[in-house]
Amino acid sequence: MPAKDGGICRVKLPGGLLTSAQARAVVATARTHASGVLELTNRSNLQIRGVREECQGALVQQLLDAGLGPRHADADDVRNVLISPAAGRDPAAHLDTRPLAERLLALLQDVPAFRDLSPKFAVQLDGGESLAMLEHPHDIWLSALPGGTQMAFGLAGCPRGGALGVVAVDQAVQLVEALLHLFLDLAGEHSRLRQLLAELPAQAFLARLPFDFQPETPCFASPALEGTPLGMHAQGQPGQVMLLAGAPLGRLYAEQLQALADLADAEGSGELRLTPWQGVLLPDVATDRQSIVAQAVSDIGLLLDACAPLARMLACSGTAGCAKGAADTKADALRLADHLGPHGPAQVHLCGCPRSCAAAHIAPYTLLAQPGGRYDLYRREQGQAGFGRLLAASLDIDQAGEHLAAGTPE
Ligand code: SF4
Repeated sequence: MPAKDGGICRVKLPGGLLTSAQARAVVATARTHASGVLELTNRSNLQIRGVREECQGALVQQLLDAGLGPRHADADDVRNVLISPAAGRDPAAHLDTRPLAERLLALLQDVPAFRDLSPKFAVQLDGGESLAMLEHPHDIWLSALPGGTQMAFGLAGCPRGGALGVVAVDQAVQLVEALLHLFLDLAGEHSRLRQLLAELPAQAFLARLPFDFQPETPCFASPALEGTPLGMHAQGQPGQVMLLAGAPLGRLYAEQLQALADLADAEGSGELRLTPWQGVLLPDVATDRQSIVAQAVSDIGLLLDACAPLARMLACSGTAGCAKGAADTKADALRLADHLGPHGPAQVHLCGCPRSCAAAHIAPYTLLAQPGGRYDLYRREQGQAGFGRLLAASLDIDQAGEHLAAGTPE
């Protein structure tokens, strides 16, 4: 995709997994053919920014050689299956969703009809992990129930809420296949399930599904996480822990990824997993090495403290990388961070325009750029559409910082 600072190459990672060898391939391509700037997305994928036009073919070939491409050349866009970055490691999980995710990704790529799905059409698999992003709506979601043999499912929403039925885990792929065919049959002009369900109620949609499921609506005991779960976490495997780090404003530089790959080899199992919080999870660290690894990650420049102002901030590319931007959101976010201490607002999202690329959810506070580089400040409120209630208009970034630092702005 073209952008103001060069081409953007989005690399979709199955289950967010990036091996250390693949990470080094990304580093090499980003340095040789692009600007060396990487972005981590809220779907656990990464983007290489600043790709030079004459290098596009070589860059793509190097990524394909590293095993980072789709199974079929025209099936890249449909690879949208989100799982927890801690899948297979999180002691709270009822189910390791990785094998199921692999089968779903194969299905999405192998059935030619599914390549007609919107590139945004997405499926989420929730294994019951405590480290899970459950507030981004997905077209289809499935969430494992205690015991790990059944999954609740829902449409156009978030896991663990508003389930429509229950299926056996070994029937989940067939269910998704039937749902996708039915959606494509009925979609008409609609590209997302929520659009179709606005016209056709979910129960009427499911009544046409040629697939048997249990019409139960289980309750989920564990609520969604609040905030970003940065830091060290227990792992299901004895003697091991996993470390979740944030990339400031979703950016990672080639040298940082190189250092993370080296760390994954030296102190982990050679695996990195990208997270939907625009960061990286390093699993399989020996418990007695955790403080050394935490220091190394901190030295790389990643965030481990959820209270740090930058850990509570989202910013899109803004004017530096996007022609639609009305403000330099990333630079302004750095300046805003200087105003906010550890007890500031839960999360602030700086948007260069109303498209809101950097977040799939509405943040507690949004600064929406206006022509001239000033911002309107919104607070998310129940029942309020869009970004929420407008608290103040046309602020410069220092005024916005003063509002937010003052506590609950009015
Ligand atoms: S939110 Fe707007 S300005 Fe920011 S990256 Fe997206 S399109 Fe560009």
